[in-house]
Amino acid sequence: MKLSLAFLLLPLLVAQAAAPPPSTSSEVDAVYPQSEALYLDLHQHPELSLHEQQSAAKLAAGLRKLGYEVTTGVGGTGVVGVLKNGTGPTVMLRTELDALPVEEKTGLPYASKVRTKDDTGADVPVMHACGHDVHMAAWMGTAGIMAGRRDRWHGTLILIGQPAEERVMGAKAMLNDGLFTRFPRPNFALAVHDDANLPAGVVGYHAGPILTNSDAVTITIFGRGGHGARPETTVDPIVIAARTVLALQTIVSRENSPFDPAVVTVGAIHGGTKNNIIPDDVTLLLTVRSFTDPVRQHLLAAIERIAKAEAAAASAPREPKIEHVEGTYALVNDAELTRRVSAALTRELGAERAKETPPEMASEDFSEFQRAGVPVLMLRVGAVEPAKFEAAQKSGTPLPSLHSSLFAPDREPTIKTAIASEVIALRELMAK
Ligand SMILES: [Zn+2]
Ligand SMILES: [Zn+2]
Repeated sequence: MKLSLAFLLLPLLVAQAAAPPPSTSSEVDAVYPQSEALYLDLHQHPELSLHEQQSAAKLAAGLRKLGYEVTTGVGGTGVVGVLKNGTGPTVMLRTELDALPVEEKTGLPYASKVRTKDDTGADVPVMHACGHDVHMAAWMGTAGIMAGRRDRWHGTLILIGQPAEERVMGAKAMLNDGLFTRFPRPNFALAVHDDANLPAGVVGYHAGPILTNSDAVTITIFGRGGHGARPETTVDPIVIAARTVLALQTIVSRENSPFDPAVVTVGAIHGGTKNNIIPDDVTLLLTVRSFTDPVRQHLLAAIERIAKAEAAAASAPREPKIEHVEGTYALVNDAELTRRVSAALTRELGAERAKETPPEMASEDFSEFQRAGVPVLMLRVGAVEPAKFEAAQKSGTPLPSLHSSLFAPDREPTIKTAIASEVIALRELMAK
């Protein structure tokens, strides 16, 4: 009797063991309502860089509920969640926490109305205009799927919430606070970023450099002020600044190889108070972009050489002051990691949803983790409603970019594609 019962049950047991696991899309559908609720909450309560306390607390609470070992206050407001699941690779997934001083004009019912004081004391609006709320919501959905299906991966999963990405400070702050020493050092680091130039539902990948070195440079040009009608008694820093701005244009156009992408932009010029006064000094604010270390060094050295030479040509009383105020490294997606993950994405989502996308002249401090010796991969997740994307392609009208007051991600397909991409990538790298 016992034997025959076991015999009868056997096919059922085998059938259960062999039943295919649920599809990624049904797993994503199951966690989406919580991710959406978190998104709507975060979107209406954005926080500026270095002030992400509430966002960090929400992420930490969510991870704790899922059984992650959570540490807060890493490198400022940073959150680290660790989920150990036997021996195997250690993989880190990052989200950013911060928003921007932008006034939301999307007209959405859940648009941000938040205003706050920035670090200079000025009253500013705040908006998730870069979509870091999309990343946080997806990251939490991924955290849920990974915690719920530990039978489908092994190793150590590290989820981090990184502060101050918009000021390219947070990644370094977390590293300096022991991210790779107090917690297991990852074999791979992953991140996604939403993309205002890709239709929702699409995930983009690209091996090699995808984002640039970025340097912010301030040049203060010193002259000798005086009466606007007595130029012979002065050294006019406005004229020196004008010549400097034009000469700086020749760095990219004449000194740099056309095969090496580079940008030197003078984004602000400040000097003078009145039409009949020659000021004592003028300040130029520059952003400088490049993909390689040699090009970066050349651009920065050329800026210094030209600024000093133009001041000397005008007989300025002192050399200009040149300050490197902020900088981050180019983001280089690891070739082998990109190959593995893009193959998995193409297999699971299809070639019409997993696409090769071009690099951009924007920047990100996710590159700090790669500088610390970890192979990294950042995927792009389309955020534009497909119909709007098509209409814009046809009309040639540019879509609102990231950081725009009108940026409004098509939330459901964007968040769902971000979760699916993260889960597919993690399972590929931590496969049993
Ligand atoms: Zn941004
Ligand atoms: Zn961003």
